[in-house]
Amino acid sequence: MKLFDYQRADSPEQAVASAQAPNTHFIAGGTNLLDLMKLQIETPERLIDVSRLDLARIELRDDGGLTIGALVPNSDLAADPHVLRHYPVLSRALLAGATGQLRNKASTGGNLLQRTRCYYFYDIAMPCNKRAPGSGCSAIGGATRIHAILGTSAHCIATHPSDMAVAMRALDATVVTLEPDGDRRRIPIADFHLLPGDTPHIETILEPGELITHIELPPPPPGRQVYRKVRDRASYAFALVSVAGVLDIRDGRIAAAALAFGGLAHKPWRDPAVEAILVGQAPGRGLFEAAADVLVKAAQGFGDNDFKIPLARRVLIATLHDLTKES
Ligand SMILES: Cc1cc2nc3c(=O)[nH]c(=O)nc-3n(C[C@H](O)[C@H](O)[C@H](O)COP(=O)(O)OP(=O)(O)OC[C@H]3O[C@@H](n4cnc5c(N)ncnc54)[C@H](O)[C@@H]3O)c2cc1C
Ligand code: SF4
Repeated sequence: MKLFDYQRADSPEQAVASAQAPNTHFIAGGTNLLDLMKLQIETPERLIDVSRLDLARIELRDDGGLTIGALVPNSDLAADPHVLRHYPVLSRALLAGATGQLRNKASTGGNLLQRTRCYYFYDIAMPCNKRAPGSGCSAIGGATRIHAILGTSAHCIATHPSDMAVAMRALDATVVTLEPDGDRRRIPIADFHLLPGDTPHIETILEPGELITHIELPPPPPGRQVYRKVRDRASYAFALVSVAGVLDIRDGRIAAAALAFGGLAHKPWRDPAVEAILVGQAPGRGLFEAAADVLVKAAQGFGDNDFKIPLARRVLIATLHDLTKES
């Protein structure tokens, strides 16, 4: 690990002001950043420790929605009574991630900003456009079992590894930040993470030194919620394919559907066409298969990950069965 300066922030405003120096990073739980520093993938000159800021509370808003501080540990968020009761998809997504010890340290803001698990991103001997822009992509033509099948580019086929972010995408969360000029910014989660395009090293729309302070959830959506994660081991493994589903059925027909996917793309993936084909229809196997066909219509495999295309179809169909079966 390279030498770096360390500074503990006393307020969000001070954190943002201190982060204006070049090559400065915030550190929260450190469960991702420290690993990257040990491997010299991240080599910050200065760390601003934000872990003791007063941003670790979960608050119920007047409209029935939740405000979640950026420093709420993943384990606290998963166990919060309001989340368990009204946003079970979020609780289940969090509990499907990492381990108990990691979830105790991992923060809401850090989880959204964790980096890809692409093997070549972690191997500094290999070309990687995300780690070293312009150097090439070793995954294309290499080992691709964990890589993306949707929204890829010729420059990067990495996936976003977060489970929590997939549930937040289905719930239409908003990311609230403090900008370098002192203004607050409210970013719909749909716009927060970016597809790789020709700048895969730019993963979110955050400006350098912009601090996530909170996440806002809208009032609980009506209907049933499910998180289904398929992975190589039953625990302590990232998703090959995951689905966060929220579905409301009225008078035997689907009144509203929100379906977000992990393991398939560079960002938590959501396709309005998949939801549109479901809404207004009576649930049934034929409808679910039609929705699954829409999901994978533009999917492209890269060899080792070709299996994700039929897997994504099956996981969506199974999730829709879960969401619509009689209880
Ligand atoms: C072995 C292992 C297995 C894992 N398995 C899973 C899994 O199955 N599913 C899953 O979803 N995750 C998994 N994780 C990832 C884990 O959830 C993340 O490492 C964690 O959520 C990151 O949070 P943190 O607070 O530790 O972030 P840090 O490591 O402190 O920070 C991560 C990044 O976010 C930035 N940052 C942190 N807070 C803020 C803020 N408030 N504003 C702006 N920038 C900020 C930092 O500068 C850094 O760039 C796993 C991790 C490990 C090590
Ligand atoms: S897929 Fe992305 S992260 Fe992986 S080697 Fe290619 S450019 Fe790097």
